[in-house]
Amino acid sequence: MIVLFLFVSIACKSEKKDKIQDDSPVTLDQHSLKKIDVHAHYKYERDYMPSLFEKWNMQGVLVDVSKADSKGIGRSWSEYVAHAKTQSNVFFLCSSLIGVGIDAPDFAEKQIARLEKEINEGARMVKVWKNFGMVTKDASGTFIQIDDVRLQPIWDFLKSRNIPVMAHIGEPIQAWRPLDDPNNPHFGYYSEHPEYHAYKHTEIPSYETIITARDNWIAKNPDLKILCAHLGSMSHDVDMVAERLDKFPNMYVETAARFGDLVGQDSDKVSAFFEKYQDRIFFGTDYGNSNPKAGLSLEELTTEAQTLDENYSRLWTYLSTTDSISLRGQKNHGLALTERILIKFYYQNVANFLELE
Ligand SMILES: [Zn+2]
Repeated sequence: MIVLFLFVSIACKSEKKDKIQDDSPVTLDQHSLKKIDVHAHYKYERDYMPSLFEKWNMQGVLVDVSKADSKGIGRSWSEYVAHAKTQSNVFFLCSSLIGVGIDAPDFAEKQIARLEKEINEGARMVKVWKNFGMVTKDASGTFIQIDDVRLQPIWDFLKSRNIPVMAHIGEPIQAWRPLDDPNNPHFGYYSEHPEYHAYKHTEIPSYETIITARDNWIAKNPDLKILCAHLGSMSHDVDMVAERLDKFPNMYVETAARFGDLVGQDSDKVSAFFEKYQDRIFFGTDYGNSNPKAGLSLEELTTEAQTLDENYSRLWTYLSTTDSISLRGQKNHGLALTERILIKFYYQNVANFLELE
């Protein structure tokens, strides 16, 4: 009987990868499990990219970001559209929205017209970024929070088109604290981007103000599907994430660039969090590139490809085994998630969310 079971299990291995398994030990290898990296910034094509994504049996969502400086609004939408066209079976697109110009009476109308066009160009989601809450002010000099009523027609439009929002609102709580520990998972980022280190910019609203506005926005839009990026800027405490997931059925989270915060928490607790919210947590990384390949040497491109491969592999080790792991200054052992949870986390939850099947 056992022999027969083993034979059947081996024979079925190629078909079983997409099916939901019970809690038996992980038998899938890191490459064969189907994946979608829901939060990637691969702005430019690379010769190695088709084989990398094939090796990892992976698709990716290319996520645009809107920023503004003295020169105006900067985006990467056209680069992402061009890149997605090179591998249309691999990449999905996520557009973006910024609050610059919100005082104009036709602001929402114009944004809706632009988003309509970008949905027709392939956008499956729209990203809002931390410039809501922390950067962009309206004509009265007030920071625009994400629950601003002037944005409501845009949410209503997205609901009507069944387009979810990816929300990176706020920052990790460490942004409001001194940056004195080099092992802080965000030490590197705020050293390079001091403009977002809110601790040093007292005019930036508090963490609580921004998170409360975000929660209020989610509560006011129960029919809008909201994927909170970076574990909803609450990555330091999975209990905080759990509290919101319990409260808001339309809220989902993804993990991009926050594995260090998870490694820094008790692995049994984090594992239980993944178990309890196994239908609401998506795989995202924030991996990407920012320069066209023409400016890079063969050696630089080779190193880039190897680093990506190693990084995807390290995350798999953390998620699927109990091996020791070191990530962004944090040390722990892996989560040893079950095969059933890994299938949902890496692929099925996003496929359901974006209604891919
Ligand atoms: Zn990102």
